[in-house]
Amino acid sequence: KEKILQVEDLQVTFQTFGGVVQAVRGVTFDLHKGETLAIVGESGCGKSVTSNAIMGLIPSPPGKVTNGKVIFKGKNLTAFNKSEFRKIQGVDVSMIFQDPMTALNPTMSIGEQLTEGLRTHHKISKADAKTKAIEMLNLVGISNPHERLKQYPHQFSGGMRQRIVIAISLICEPTLLIADEPTTALDVTIQAQILELFAEIQEKTGVSIILITHDLGVVAKIADRIAVMYAGKIIEIGTKREIFYAPAHPYTKGLLNSVPRLDLLEEELQPIEGTPPDLFAPPTGCAFTARCPYAMEVCSHAYPVETSLFGQHKVDCWLQDERAKGIFS
Ligand code: SF4
Ligand code: MG
Repeated sequence: KEKILQVEDLQVTFQTFGGVVQAVRGVTFDLHKGETLAIVGESGCGKSVTSNAIMGLIPSPPGKVTNGKVIFKGKNLTAFNKSEFRKIQGVDVSMIFQDPMTALNPTMSIGEQLTEGLRTHHKISKADAKTKAIEMLNLVGISNPHERLKQYPHQFSGGMRQRIVIAISLICEPTLLIADEPTTALDVTIQAQILELFAEIQEKTGVSIILITHDLGVVAKIADRIAVMYAGKIIEIGTKREIFYAPAHPYTKGLLNSVPRLDLLEEELQPIEGTPPDLFAPPTGCAFTARCPYAMEVCSHAYPVETSLFGQHKVDCWLQDERAKGIFS
């Protein structure tokens, strides 16, 4: 399948009073047309920073993309300036955040907010924009769209507002949708409906989705592939089956540990004893060493180079590296 996004060795830092935080430390992955990639990990692992960097939303200063490429449909986005980004944001690449209320403007009608992007970027007539807005409300399952267009955000429930946010994000028919914890603020029943909606929309539009989440239940429902992040790096990546049924990294195993059955997954990531390393001075070796029950001497001083397992499965762990077996057997 066609690759629409390639992220290569992305590195992002933030200047703070305490020093420079290395938030993303060399992230590489690609995304195909119509695919959903879930990026999972604890808070502070760099998953939101990664997606913000793709979108050109790293505030600079204090943030900075210090290395790497983000190739989107053949163009390197890390070379884009603000105005070049503005032309694709919400048009070819859209982003949905956790809280639907802050994403909507309380003083504008739903109709105005739906058609705003369309009118700015595509210069279409008011009537055509309205037709498209109605079509989008139908797509996201909001009944009575003619009446609803005139209403304001406070007249909708939380779940309905998130549907509207999704409609706004898709109205310009983007190639890529990045959703950062899109269902975290919603109750469980509504969460399930919104996830089903993502799946339906993907089927109808072929949009590629990057889903940022700490919720394994969400991942189990809609991801095709999963990237597990730890301390600013992707430490394991593979298809949903590969990660859920054959996790290879001790950190991933820890996350999945207490989950009894995949079909019962409603759990958030399980806490693992210990805390992630300080990203002011990240370790040279494997960042999980201090928390890892299998840590060997090599782990603390050399970073484990990515090992390819079966299929699309890749992991950064010395336990999977043939050379470590030679050293320690
Ligand atoms: Fe554990 Fe070593 Fe693997 Fe890191 S490289 S996860 S410390 S075994
Ligand atoms: Mg986040």
